[in-house]
Parts: sequence; structure tokens; C-alpha cells
Amino acid sequence: MLTVNAYAAPSATEPLVPTTIERRDVGAKDVLIEIAYAGICHSDIHTVRGDWGPVAYPLTVGHEIVGVVTEVGSDVTLHNVGDRVGVGCMVNSCRECVNCLSGDENYCLKGNTGTYASVDRDGTITQGGYSTHVVVVEDFVLKVPESIPYEAAAPLLCAGITTYSPLHHWKAGPGSKVAVVGMGGLGHMAVKIAHAMGAEVTVLSRTLSKKEDGLRLGADHYYATGDEATFETLANEFDLIINTVSAEIDMNAHLSLLALNGTLVNVGAPSEPLPVQAFSLIGGRRSFAGSGIGSIGETQEMLDFCAEHGIAPEIELVNADGINDAYERVLSSDVRYRFVIDASTFA
Ligand code: NAP
Ligand code: ZN
Ligand code: ZN
Repeated sequence: MLTVNAYAAPSATEPLVPTTIERRDVGAKDVLIEIAYAGICHSDIHTVRGDWGPVAYPLTVGHEIVGVVTEVGSDVTLHNVGDRVGVGCMVNSCRECVNCLSGDENYCLKGNTGTYASVDRDGTITQGGYSTHVVVVEDFVLKVPESIPYEAAAPLLCAGITTYSPLHHWKAGPGSKVAVVGMGGLGHMAVKIAHAMGAEVTVLSRTLSKKEDGLRLGADHYYATGDEATFETLANEFDLIINTVSAEIDMNAHLSLLALNGTLVNVGAPSEPLPVQAFSLIGGRRSFAGSGIGSIGETQEMLDFCAEHGIAPEIELVNADGINDAYERVLSSDVRYRFVIDASTFA
């Protein structure tokens, strides 16, 4: 066992505090990673605050991890000491079900092993990336291209893949009109990636306060959903809508913006239901879909795509003692556009 410094939530209602956690000994197929940076995802906040149901405390969250390999097990072939690597939202899966066998382990029928708050193979509860080190089985560790700025790479491991995957699956590209709902951590990555894929990109944010940023990041158009006229102007407009909003919004109003055969993919994960009227779909043979992170193979593809296209998240670096303030700022949508923790400050 390795005892490492970390930050943990003592309960759903208290601030995160410094602590230590245990990492397992490096097994034959494991790599030990010294964490350099960890992103703050809205899912971390949903989880520690119990939005998605009860979790075991104390809990260390964080599933946007980059760092360097400092030790490898005897049977490791994919990574070497000194490699720059990443870990995202999952650290294992059953490896036997039909979805795992088809390379869709994020949709493992037995549930993938989450990077935090999941039951690990040894029965312990997984603890996430707000810490100095993590031990992960080698094939759930990604290679992070050196050309991606180190301090900005971490959010690709969740915000990047969660938006890349549906854009790729539903074939965003030249000739397609894509709308991104919500300009936060996921939303700003969706804008950059959809633009790089060649799609015509529209941001739908509550106000126009981030319009200049949206256009700079690659959006062609920017509208406020707080303005009723937006829903008339953009009716039947989009082939694909990616909803990244962390709270309940009017799905029927947003579905009315889809063109014939269009798809609204929900990646935002509020605890409230998202009611849909049958006629919102029937009218234009529309689809209402969901998407969860991406497979390991697709995550590597996304990292390589971002390196090739010079794409990196817009980040604000914080120290470990700034996590609680950062949480409050995420909750009030005061994030430009992802907080990343300097993991050296856990020491
Ligand atoms: P975030 O940075 O807080 O961004 C969410 C954005 O939603 C905000 O910037 C804001 O955009 C908009 N928003 C927030 N509250 C709203 C409200 N009450 N009404 C309307 N719009 C609101 O969060 P994130 O880290 O991108 O995560 C977004 C959601 O995706 C979370 O629910 C998270 O758990 C989920 N998620 C899902 C997956 C998956 O695999 N499906 C993976 C990661 C995260 P504007 O200010 O532009 O309106
Ligand atoms: Zn996440
Ligand atoms: Zn499986």
C-alpha cells in the first residue's frame, strides 16, 4: 500500500479537506502515475453532494487526470516510466460482456469501474484524482501527446471525450449544423471539437455574456436561450444538438430546433427527469439520445485528434486549497471554462 496526499469530501454538505488515501501496490499489469494536474468536472460536484444518490464518505473525486508514469508492473507492455499519461472516468470493466468485447467498455453491462465511488476488483471503493498518485491497470491508461499543453490536457479525459464521442458517432462534419447547449466545461470543448470536425457550430447559452469567447473558440453563431425569439428564429435548424447543461431545461423547446431526422444528444446529467412530449419527436422524425463518456480506444483517438488540430481546453489553474471556491464558481456558472488543480499542491 502506498499512502498518498489527497483532498476528500467528508460528507455531502461539508467542504473538501486535506487527507491521505491508500493506493494499492503496483500489480503486474498496473502502472503508478504521479499526478500533475486534475480537472474539476461538474460530475465531481454532483457525486460528492449526493445528487445522483448516496456515496461512501470520505470520498476523493476527480476523473480528469494527467501525470507521469513512475513505476510499471512486471507484465506492463503499453507504458514506460517517464511517459505522459492520462486517466479518465473509468479504471476497469468486466472485459467479458458483449459491450466490452466490442470495444465499448464505457457501456459495460456490469457497469464500468468508475475512477471514484465505484467498487473496485478488490472490494474497496475507488478514489479519484484529487491526489498525488494513482495506480491503474495499464489498458485503462491513455497516452497524452506532448504537444498538448500539460496543464490544460486533463479536462480532455472527461469533458473532451464526452463531447467528442457523440459528435463522432452522429457524424458532425462539413455540411452539418451542430448546436451546443451550455457553454461550460463540456460545452466549450464541444464547440472546439465540432468546429475542428468541420461542422457549422451554434452555441445556445442562457445569455450572450460569453458570446465573444464562443466565437473565438470556433462557434459560427451564438444565441441566448433566455430570449424567446431564439426558439422561433432557429426552429427546425439543427442536424445535431449536444445538451451539456447540468440542470433541468425545457427539452421540448430544444427538440423543436431539430431539422427532419435530427438528434438531440443529452450528455448533461441533472438528477431531475427531462420530460419529453411524444409530438416533439414525431413531428420531424426526431431522436432524443444520450451518450456516456467514450471507450478507451475512442479516448485515445480524441487525444490524438486534439493534438493534430491544436485543441486544448481553456483552463484556470487552482491550488488544492482553492477547490471549494472553485466548486462554488462552477455551481454559479462562473467558470472559464474548466478549473484544473495543480496536484503538486496536494503535497
Ligand atoms: P459546467 O462546466 O458547470 O457547465 C454546465 C453549463 O450548463 C453551464 O456553463 C451553463 O451554461 C449551463 N447551465 C448551468 N445551470 C443551468 C441552468 N439552471 N439552466 C440552464 N443552463 C444551465 O458543467 P460540466 O462539467 O460541463 O458538466 C455538464 C453536465 O454534464 C453535468 O451534469 C455533468 O455531470 C455531465 N457530464 C456527463 C458526462 C457523460 O458521460 N454523459 C460526462 C461528464 C459530465 P451557460 O452559462 O452557457 O448557459
Ligand atoms: Zn466528468
Ligand atoms: Zn463488460
